[in-house]
Amino acid sequence: MPEHCTNHPDRPSVITCFKMNFGYCQECLDTCEACTEPCGYCKTRSGCVIYELCRKSESVRLKREECED
Ligand SMILES: [Zn+2]
Repeated sequence: MPEHCTNHPDRPSVITCFKMNFGYCQECLDTCEACTEPCGYCKTRSGCVIYELCRKSESVRLKREECED
């Protein structure tokens, strides 16, 4: 598991994207910046904590709608 947030290298990671093996901090998780691929195929999606936590997020929902058009 990566020790630091991919977007914020000065912060410890609290969660890992198993597909990309990127770490993310709590803020990235809270703002749902943690899922790099809300649209494309992700083989870990069914067990992805990030995806589950962000399922109701407005920003992720909008991103998804954009790519489904
Ligand atoms: Zn971060």
